[in-house]
Amino acid sequence: MSTVGTAPRPRPELERLPVYRAGRPPADVPGLVGHKLSSNENPFGPLPEVAAAVRDALALNRYPDATAAPLREALADVLSVPVDGIVAGAGSLDVLNKILAAFAGRRAGGTPDEVIFAWRSFESYPISVGLSGAKSVPVPLTPEGRHDLDAFLAAITDRTRVIILCTPNNPTGPALSGTELDAFLERVPADILVVIDEAYVEFVREPDAVDALATVRDRPNAVALRTFSKAHGLADLRVGYAVGHPDVIASVQRGAVPFAVSTVGQAAAIASLNAMPRVLERVEAIVVERERVVAELRSRGWVIPDAQGNFFWLPLGEQAEAFADAALDAALSVRAFPGDGVRISIGSPEANDRVLDLCGHWAGAAA
Ligand SMILES: *Cc1c(COP(=O)(O)O)cnc(C)c1O
Repeated sequence: MSTVGTAPRPRPELERLPVYRAGRPPADVPGLVGHKLSSNENPFGPLPEVAAAVRDALALNRYPDATAAPLREALADVLSVPVDGIVAGAGSLDVLNKILAAFAGRRAGGTPDEVIFAWRSFESYPISVGLSGAKSVPVPLTPEGRHDLDAFLAAITDRTRVIILCTPNNPTGPALSGTELDAFLERVPADILVVIDEAYVEFVREPDAVDALATVRDRPNAVALRTFSKAHGLADLRVGYAVGHPDVIASVQRGAVPFAVSTVGQAAAIASLNAMPRVLERVEAIVVERERVVAELRSRGWVIPDAQGNFFWLPLGEQAEAFADAALDAALSVRAFPGDGVRISIGSPEANDRVLDLCGHWAGAAA
């Protein structure tokens, strides 16, 4: 019964997905050490106790715990939340995909659910939403690079199932305040799940910023999404988690692939949690560098949105790609979003100094 010329066809959603572009490595420039500032990675290598935990966990022939119970128990302790209110995954992106698989897709009759998120925001959102079968509803940021929560409310329909908030927003930098989040959640129908992506929460210094864990405690339709990839510097080990109401978390866990977090990843994450004061010292060093770089650039006339993550945003519009090319010539890789702007991660002081030099030359060239 085979028909010549037919081949397996992927779901139509797949062909419409935007392609994820990973941050480029820096170019080789003779005489210059390259710095990758395009993926918001932590410039610090692993803490000695984390490296030791990884070495001790290398029993590679055994499967890890199916639901990452050791890690979830450690997190429950540290965060003072119940273990069954935590789901872990291979990075927070895996957890987000699980959340969407559980709460958004297509209903009977084929009508797509709707998922609202800010735009521009994390590049993965439209990919994850598209893959789930649901429809992306992007809501433009304000000119200051902030979420426009009134516009979110106006975008809610009876097909809205999930709302994703990114705070601080990647790539623009501003964080939501607790006051604006509370006022927003008061007006969001209780049957819509609100995912608060806090990938950079440790870097936030705005006093009134969102406290997603407190929010999640009070509101069963809110979920906090967190990662070990940024502040903990464990991007390569792929460990993330969500905290929410146990009923919501149980639904997310039900659709999850078991064994998502390796024993090695769990051991590293637990060791890092146990070394939190030293993790936060490093975070503080990055924040100090962020404040130095952003203040210096602003004093030279650059317009930069509030930077609450380990990165900042240059709204360069049509010049974004040219700027990223100039950075490559200086052995720096930064992230250009063509027609929009450039996101630059905070790196070592030396890397950041070179960014300041580059911006100095760029302003000179533009003048
Ligand atoms: C980096 C980042 C993540 C983290 O992804 P992992 O899968 O945990 O590495 C999640 N959300 C945002 C907004 C990010 O920038």
